[in-house]
Amino acid sequence: MAVSSPTGLGGRLTIDLGAIVKNWRALDTISARALTGAVVKSDAYGTGLIPTSMALFGAGARFFFVATPDEAVALRQQLPEAHIFVLNGLYPGAARIYEKERLMPVLASIEMLDEWLAHCVSANEAFPAALQFDTGMNRLGVRLQESDQVRDRLDEFGYMPQMIMSHLACADQPSHEKNRTQLALFQSILAQFPGIPASLANSAGTMISRENHFQMVRPGIALFGGRAVNGRKNPMAPVVKLEVPVLQVHDGKTGETVGYGAGYTLDRDSRIAILAIGYGDGFLRSLSSTNTRQGGRAVFNNRIAPLIGRVSMDTVAVDVTDLGDAAPKPGDMMEVLGKTITVDGQADPGGTIGYEMLTNLKGRYKRAYISPPAPNTGG
Ligand SMILES: *Cc1c(COP(=O)(O)O)cnc(C)c1O
Repeated sequence: MAVSSPTGLGGRLTIDLGAIVKNWRALDTISARALTGAVVKSDAYGTGLIPTSMALFGAGARFFFVATPDEAVALRQQLPEAHIFVLNGLYPGAARIYEKERLMPVLASIEMLDEWLAHCVSANEAFPAALQFDTGMNRLGVRLQESDQVRDRLDEFGYMPQMIMSHLACADQPSHEKNRTQLALFQSILAQFPGIPASLANSAGTMISRENHFQMVRPGIALFGGRAVNGRKNPMAPVVKLEVPVLQVHDGKTGETVGYGAGYTLDRDSRIAILAIGYGDGFLRSLSSTNTRQGGRAVFNNRIAPLIGRVSMDTVAVDVTDLGDAAPKPGDMMEVLGKTITVDGQADPGGTIGYEMLTNLKGRYKRAYISPPAPNTGG
């Protein structure tokens, strides 16, 4: 478990569960004729597996996707009625744990399928599972040319998977031709396994085409306010806000350097604020800046100030010169994630993606959750 902030003196990470619920409902509307699952792997993209999943369940989500059996067991303890899929599939030797916890592996190879079927035979019960085909990701999934072997086994054991899945590699780029190719390959697989529900779309796949919806969509990043589709306005509500305390404010002179490696030289007399956040808090070192390369940013009173120099383990330096009299003072909080600088806005200059900003939120923060509005029970 991450170190939190028992004194409350550290940063403040606010997670808006109402916004997560709103985003899930928006996706549920887009995918009107399909079920809308929720991908909550990696601690619900850093927002907290349990509080986030409970809020989604409260809003009507029933199908949850995690990556690992450990995540699944943690979720099962809180949500006895959820349907839980394990995206990494069946871990060798673990079938009994999946059975006991009522977890559905997303079977991704002939070996996994064989082990699952053997377990079902030994228990004389057809435990539910999903089956994933690789249509072009070259990651997890049964290879297309193995579909006959799958068919033979399903026929032999009279076993029907709950769902057939695949995963899109390029859905974040709507005009990428791989989207068409993968859809066509997926449809050809489905034709070989008639009558089994299907699921193809992640967040981007859900947003770019109804053809990707099938019987269930599996959004992750969009639930958490991240940008799913590149080159389009992100319609999702922001979910996280991260504010960190200013430790010190000082004046630096032209020609002085800032931080490790002397990687940034002041080209004017500057006012510098030192914030209590660093790569040890998941604030990526790739957000460092040099004189020729912009890095991360921070916000005070709606004014944006650039990080200067390298991100240290526990601190970063911010150039607040242009804020003049409105510059922050020690004890003030500066926002590094929120509505002004979104997870993607912060990730972009670091050469990374909102997903990585979010899943790195394991820092020395105090976490606060904003509850979703009470469900409308009126008639
Ligand atoms: C992570 C993941 C998703 C969700 O992807 P997003 O881009 O976050 O919406 C869906 N399906 C699979 C197989 C995944 O691994």
